[in-house]
Amino acid sequence: MQNSRRDFFKKVAGIASAVVVAPAVVNGLFSSVANAEGKRGGAAGGGLPLVEPGKDMAATVNYVHNAKDIKDAKLKTERQGVKFEQQNCAGCMLYTKEGMQGGVEVGKCSIFAGKVVKSTGWCTSWAKKA
Ligand code: SF4
Repeated sequence: MQNSRRDFFKKVAGIASAVVVAPAVVNGLFSSVANAEGKRGGAAGGGLPLVEPGKDMAATVNYVHNAKDIKDAKLKTERQGVKFEQQNCAGCMLYTKEGMQGGVEVGKCSIFAGKVVKSTGWCTSWAKKA
């Protein structure tokens, strides 16, 4: 009788600790998945890779992640009545907001299939949003 009571309390204690630990384990799993998503760009960013400045089409259109990185004065011109300082991907006709990556808004651009650009980005194909 003594042993079965002791066994009973051991089992209850085991179950109770499993109930306490389980949410922590599940929580840990979710945060691991969330961190992995964040490193990849996350579901909020569509999980799409960022366009790489200086590569392929990005090089052709002088894409940069931040319009302020454009140093060539010949590129820093007014377009469709918009001063260069006010031009960026977020204000471009070809940009569609997708989500966030690394704390910065990103979006799809019609000229970069399967990738995203930063809202702060810019390229020579910039066109005023209607
Ligand atoms: S076309 Fe527009 S949205 Fe696309 S990279 Fe150039 S400025 Fe950004």
